[in-house]
Amino acid sequence: MILVTNDDGIDSPGLVALARALTSVEEICVIAPNRNWTAAGHTKTLDRPLRVAEITLPGSRLKAFSSDGSPSDCVALGFLGLAPERPRLVVSGINTGPNMGSDITYSGTVSAAMEGVVSGVPAIAISLADYYQWDFHYAAQFAARLARRVLKSGLERDVLLNVNVPSGRRTDIRGVQVTRLGRREYNDELIRRKDPFGRDYFWIGGGPPGGTGEPGTDLHAVAAGYVSITPVQLDLTNHDLIEHIATWGLKA
Ligand code: MN
Repeated sequence: MILVTNDDGIDSPGLVALARALTSVEEICVIAPNRNWTAAGHTKTLDRPLRVAEITLPGSRLKAFSSDGSPSDCVALGFLGLAPERPRLVVSGINTGPNMGSDITYSGTVSAAMEGVVSGVPAIAISLADYYQWDFHYAAQFAARLARRVLKSGLERDVLLNVNVPSGRRTDIRGVQVTRLGRREYNDELIRRKDPFGRDYFWIGGGPPGGTGEPGTDLHAVAAGYVSITPVQLDLTNHDLIEHIATWGLKA
């Protein structure tokens, strides 16, 4: 069984396209948030109960669970007993927008995949790397092929695959590159305004993030028209620095 989720919410066409494509791989269980959680990161809800509704995905006959929890809550719900059997794989997406470089630290899409890894199974996060055009057809087909491959070959423990698909038709895609994370540049601006009561409020705004990316990175691959697959590990330790920091001789 494959657990399918996303961070754009249960009514996102990216989720429906993904769920449909994955039914050709094996049995699926869809558990997704009932609202958009984009950029919610790896949120775990501990301060309130979680509600779940059984629904049918829009424009399809696929049954799904809709929850008021975060994307990673949805994955946890599945593993803790909501899914009829223990999932062998988590697939999260298809996100409307790229998740590259340091985006993945904000991404609810990638965090849901991480929750799968925390639960002990391989996971795939898949995003359509465009801010304006949403044709999920090719990305959904690619996700199904990759899911089949991961189920067959397995993945190293504690690893997820972060996939970014350029928008466009299959004939526009130049190939697949396995990449490392690039360096994102954010164009955030602080917007300061007054509310109707005369108090200041702030909004973090600005244009879409940039960053050109060197060859070998996700940013570079997608800009050149390739599907990017980045193997991401849960262990954030910088192993090279362990010995160096130890030489500081810090005293308790
Ligand atoms: Mn999103």
